[in-house]
Amino acid sequence: MPHRHLIAGNWKMNGVKASLAVAEAIAAQSRSHSARVALFPPATLLPLMADVLKGTDIILGGQDCHHADSGAYTGDISAAMLKDAGASMVILGHSERRHGHLEPCALVARKVQAALRAGLEPIICIGETLDQRQGGLTIPVLSRQLADSLPDELADRPFQVSYEPVWAIGTGLIASDAQILEAFALIRRYLDQRFGAHVAPHLLYGGSVKASNAGQVLALEGVSGALVGGASLTVEDFMPIIAAADIAPV
Ligand code: PEP
Repeated sequence: MPHRHLIAGNWKMNGVKASLAVAEAIAAQSRSHSARVALFPPATLLPLMADVLKGTDIILGGQDCHHADSGAYTGDISAAMLKDAGASMVILGHSERRHGHLEPCALVARKVQAALRAGLEPIICIGETLDQRQGGLTIPVLSRQLADSLPDELADRPFQVSYEPVWAIGTGLIASDAQILEAFALIRRYLDQRFGAHVAPHLLYGGSVKASNAGQVLALEGVSGALVGGASLTVEDFMPIIAAADIAPV
């Protein structure tokens, strides 16, 4: 198992140059905490944030990438461009891409392959919708997303998986301990069977993580990090989540 929690802040479509001060303060204040911290700003801020974070332990990542290495894809960003801009990780298969941009698992898998070609470490997101949960489909949905979004190339490359119930993202609702434990047991079993027990990525939980619930979520068996959206946008909201990892066992 990885020996430190990974606390990842996904800024989504938020942040302008003035927000670099937030990243700078997070980097300074994270030094006294045990977690690995990663920030995923909008692509426009990546090179500037890379400068701000130079010499710190903060990991920088992109929020998505194209499946091709280059070409006529207006408005898209390749994995190599993210790498060139200072990123070492990339979030793929986020529900806002799967649902907002109708990205199927097969496309997520191609993006993961592109990320690996560029030397980026992917965080692959999976999660069920409320309808799917209420219809008793959570386990088959998560199983299909794992099988179809994770390419074979991951067998010998570092990667992370984030379980993010779609109904918990940005809603203030958080999955129960039992729901999280069930999903994580499934993910762990799947990874063991497909890649072997030696493949031990961080398994993150995402969905309305905040200061008041981070300690409880991070202490759950098998949870080795959190993907945080709204509460990663300010120092005041994000630092208590980073600090919560100090007392949670991995
Ligand atoms: C996310 O963006 O992955 C997320 C979990 O958002 P929030 O923390 O705002 O629910």
